[in-house]
Amino acid sequence: MAERIGWDQALSLARSGAREDPMRLGELADQVRRARHGNRATFIHNLQINPSNVCVRDCAFCGFAALPGEPGGYSLDEEDILGEIAASGAAEVHIVGGLNREWDFNRSLGLIARIRRAFPQLHIKAFTAVEIDWFACQSEIPVREVLESLKQTGLDCIPGGGAEIFSERIRKRLFPRKIGADRWLEIHETAHRLGIPSNATLLHGLGETPEERLGHLFRLRELQDRTGGFVSFVPLALQTGAAGGRESTMGPLDDLVMIALSRLVLDNIPHIKAYWPMLGLSTAAVALGWGADDLDGTLGLEKVAHASGADTPRALAAGEMVRLIREAGYEPQERNGSYQWVTRSA
Ligand code: SF4
Repeated sequence: MAERIGWDQALSLARSGAREDPMRLGELADQVRRARHGNRATFIHNLQINPSNVCVRDCAFCGFAALPGEPGGYSLDEEDILGEIAASGAAEVHIVGGLNREWDFNRSLGLIARIRRAFPQLHIKAFTAVEIDWFACQSEIPVREVLESLKQTGLDCIPGGGAEIFSERIRKRLFPRKIGADRWLEIHETAHRLGIPSNATLLHGLGETPEERLGHLFRLRELQDRTGGFVSFVPLALQTGAAGGRESTMGPLDDLVMIALSRLVLDNIPHIKAYWPMLGLSTAAVALGWGADDLDGTLGLEKVAHASGADTPRALAAGEMVRLIREAGYEPQERNGSYQWVTRSA
């Protein structure tokens, strides 16, 4: 596909291509993926930390959060977090959590400082745009200053969560108290302008139309044309345990079609992730032939997807990632948080 895919072609592929000839869609995405990444598929030894699930928002699809005072709320302390990182030996820590007044900006900044002091080489990916917005609003500090402080303290990258689907229709129905598309994009653009790379996501299965999915992808592509700051795109499949359940049409084929469309439309974002905790291991492995080139990581203590019904293992050993990729017919390559290759001595 020499020319950049436009809206009409993408919509045609999203509608009829997905319904009538999904294998062709997969083949087109695989061609693009192979031109970029050959037969290689990457993964990272990382650790996800969710400091607290207490959250003042009440998103209808979220099975992770507890409102303040509700049973089931938890909050880790800094010593526990540092201990978990030390025990993991991970190359990257991925920190996301609820909007908890006990975990305000100063405390969160302090956590990043302590992690950076204790683990100078660790890649720190932390705080979604939703959390950055919360820090800025609570502290009455501009987003730019929040991000500058985090960067100076040791933050390397921000994750892509919280974007959900850029549709006001769905936001009003399912997550009306969460920031919308304009604010999410503004925060990522500010991060990119400060030299902080980020990921992007799309949560599918919320009852969105093909136009709404593509609208989301095209807004990401437009921002990436201006900043070049997105490193990776991660399509997220809504979990069956989440409130309301998945749409009846959702299933592994829909997940694969979403990945293929992402690879074709987001021609300016280097990596497409098959996020195995939400896809399932088999679908994630198959997704490597539908446009994905990275399986994310070993993850360790991930709670967000699993609290929403994911029935995948909580963590995979690096050896399991290698086996999964090999069995799918690809050449496994461990990487670090900057997508540089890592060679294990044993
Ligand atoms: S999705 Fe995020 S913002 Fe919404 S309730 Fe869950 S943790 Fe809070």
